[in-house]
Amino acid sequence: MTKLERAEAGEGGAVSSWTCSRCEVTVTFTSKVADPELPSTWISDGNELYCLGCRRDLAGDAGVEGLGEDAPNATRLQRRSQARIEFEIGRDPDRADNRIAKACGTSTVAVRKARDRLGLPARGAVPGGTG
Ligand SMILES: [Zn+2]
Repeated sequence: MTKLERAEAGEGGAVSSWTCSRCEVTVTFTSKVADPELPSTWISDGNELYCLGCRRDLAGDAGVEGLGEDAPNATRLQRRSQARIEFEIGRDPDRADNRIAKACGTSTVAVRKARDRLGLPARGAVPGGTG
């Protein structure tokens, strides 16, 4: 005799998940979330879905696109890095420079320079804070 196993999530318990088209990372929502939506950090582009990390990489790619074929490697790397930082700043301008720098794997100085290029005020340590 075998016991019949019933699915725990009987009613509306479908699990929603999204898989990034580029790096194939997956986010999953259980049935606890009533009406799950695509995470705010993700974007859908036609039938493609991209996670935050890939969006940042794509922003970097786009930054390099304008360069000629004969552009030096150092210039490409710099452009890519700058484009990634500018993407991060545009995504959340209120985030502290060091957080953005960490997300992009760069220095806070580079983030400040990027803010300067974008005409945005610097976001350093909170004045008077212990931060
Ligand atoms: Zn991805």
